[in-house]
Amino acid sequence: KLVSREFKNEDTVLDIGGVLVGGSHLTVMAGPCAVESREQLLESARIVKEAGAQFLRGGAYKPRTSPYSFQGLEEKGLEMLAEARTVTGLKIVTEVVDIQSVPVVSAYADVLQIGARNMQNFQLLKAVGKSGMPVLLKRGIAATINEWLHAAEYVMSEGNYNVMFCERGIRTFEDYTRNTLDLSAVAALKNLSHLPVIVDPSHGTGLWKLVRPMARAAVAGGADGLMIEVHPNPAEALSDGNQSLTPKNFQEMMREVGAVAAAV
Ligand code: PEP
Ligand code: MN
Repeated sequence: KLVSREFKNEDTVLDIGGVLVGGSHLTVMAGPCAVESREQLLESARIVKEAGAQFLRGGAYKPRTSPYSFQGLEEKGLEMLAEARTVTGLKIVTEVVDIQSVPVVSAYADVLQIGARNMQNFQLLKAVGKSGMPVLLKRGIAATINEWLHAAEYVMSEGNYNVMFCERGIRTFEDYTRNTLDLSAVAALKNLSHLPVIVDPSHGTGLWKLVRPMARAAVAGGADGLMIEVHPNPAEALSDGNQSLTPKNFQEMMREVGAVAAAV
């Protein structure tokens, strides 16, 4: 299989407009759960850029559990992301939730995010494969590593080798945390596949207090990068405020993971 170490032994390093993901680079993708307003997004972008991240994250199409929750600003949100890229130079990673919006999201983003809920949406995987855009493939909420590898294979089988995995926690019996962050998946994937592996301790734990320690652990365990939710004012966030870091906590996290990366 294309995803496997048997097909390609050396680590894949993605070049996303000059930003390298994989190899010895630690890539940080950070920003709010959702794009809420121009002010909120530009402020978030300024914060994550200043702290040293390479990517701005933020959902314009939000896959919410309830249809009555904030659903995202859609194309208006994509425009704001593109403006934030112009202002800061950050690359943009944002979720695409269906086949119809692959072209519009591709027009604004640098990386297409496939959310956990869509990891086995095979038609969508084929569509992002055909788009040729770099893809961040989140782990399904109850997906095995084998199923996740096959999902990446769907993208690659369309000729698109620009794929990275993102561990974001899985559902277990534990309900103190939102999900159970499976850091063993990082080492497992690094053994099985040549593709980069990103860890998202924000969705992985659901609790901002656990994000910094799990970010440190992810880097110590061989992750190629982190995806982190940061909000200028988490208490006011329209989604995932409980797991979002304040600007100050994010700065501290960046300092800590820099030290861990230098030590391992
Ligand atoms: C997100 O990153 O905003 C998100 C919805 O994550 P997940 O698909 O992992 O739940
Ligand atoms: Mn979120």
